[in-house]
Amino acid sequence: ISAYELNKFYLDRIKNIDTKIDSYLYLNESILDEAKIIDEKRARGEKLPEYAGIPIAIKDNMVTKGMPTTCASKILENFDSPYNATVVELLKEKGFLILGKLNMDEFAMGSSCENSYYKKTKNPWDLERVPGGSSGGSAAAVAARLAPATLGSDTGGSIRQPASLCNVCGLKPTYGRVSRYGLVAFASSLDQIGPLTHNVEDSALLLSIIGKHDEKDSTSAKFESKDYTANLNKDIKGLKIGVPKEFFGEGIQPEVKEKVLEAIKQFESLGCEIKEISLPHTEYAVAVYYIIATAEASSNLARYDGVRYGFRAEAEGLIDMYEKTRSIGFGDEVKRRIMLGTYVLSAGYYDAYYLKAQKVRTLIKNDYLNAFKEVDVIITPTSPTTAFKIGEKSSDPLQMYLSDIYTISLNLFGGCGISIPCGFDNNNLPIGLQIMGNYFEEEKVLNLAHKFQ
Ligand code: GLN
Repeated sequence: ISAYELNKFYLDRIKNIDTKIDSYLYLNESILDEAKIIDEKRARGEKLPEYAGIPIAIKDNMVTKGMPTTCASKILENFDSPYNATVVELLKEKGFLILGKLNMDEFAMGSSCENSYYKKTKNPWDLERVPGGSSGGSAAAVAARLAPATLGSDTGGSIRQPASLCNVCGLKPTYGRVSRYGLVAFASSLDQIGPLTHNVEDSALLLSIIGKHDEKDSTSAKFESKDYTANLNKDIKGLKIGVPKEFFGEGIQPEVKEKVLEAIKQFESLGCEIKEISLPHTEYAVAVYYIIATAEASSNLARYDGVRYGFRAEAEGLIDMYEKTRSIGFGDEVKRRIMLGTYVLSAGYYDAYYLKAQKVRTLIKNDYLNAFKEVDVIITPTSPTTAFKIGEKSSDPLQMYLSDIYTISLNLFGGCGISIPCGFDNNNLPIGLQIMGNYFEEEKVLNLAHKFQ
């Protein structure tokens, strides 16, 4: 098959099917010309990069030169970045072609993709349900085969939770593994880019390309890239799996619990040792996250002032312009978070909220570090429930925030984790299994995930 045929297949399929799924915000029509050039070079016998002509699609919070980047917000309507995010550059160097940009919750704030200014992405398994979020477009596009793989970002679960709800693999690398240069910042101490794919091998392959030290990101870890597919088939006999009791309590859908426990049995039969563990500060994770993430977001989003990027409202005078631009440009959830974040950082409340949250974050981190002294990986459900109905939780932010109860603490800790499919509930909706690892232990996590598949 030629690069042209391959890309034409995806482009046509998107045009036919994405009218129902709404996963793309922007489609790169010139991809066929790019593919033709590759085919011509190949015909001439020119040396091409390893993945020349393979299409991939990107969540719309990673900047792409020559294509809009909106973060699904009105405030970035028509914003064109003058440069590419490091991950986009790395993919292009390997010959990947960018199919387009994917829908998400505005500025990655949400768990259902309902917070997009432009459209609501539907879950391909049931069009009345959400695909999860915030990387809902990235998960739905893979699930509906509208891209062979995509990139998403995960601040509190935004790769893993939609992967779980859409029955695909979603990997959140260790904080610092993948460069955040060109990822529009939401909560800088938590954000991390990762792949969403059909299988574990593809996730490993993409991590081998994007997981690389980058001078342009001061938090990027000083590791060169390596081949994460090399250890996928390694024997997992004797590996110790921790099962934290706090992740199977109240609020979990019975079938989710049942399937995840079955999966754990399967690991046992593959020779792994199963150990009940405790992550005692888990109950504080959601509260801590919504203080730290909103604080960082309120600061990061201060740059959208109508002067530098995207949308600017008609106004009289500078202050009026700021106010109008921000009140029209941001959606409700984003405004809610800016207000919360500004509040917890304000002089009178800083010690009571932000500082306290940082201290509890350390306790949560220590829980994980202590657990990883005893076990190799930790297995839990990815999401307490399967995909919920569109509109079901959108009027109740607190309910929505609880969708990430099993994913959020890993971001506070900073380790790596993957969600992989592990069965279906009684409505035939997919269930995901989460495997979490210590800092920079992606290989172990990927190895176990691959053996399970
Ligand atoms: N759902 C969480 C939030 O709304 C996590 C989002 C994310 O990981 N980007 O903040």
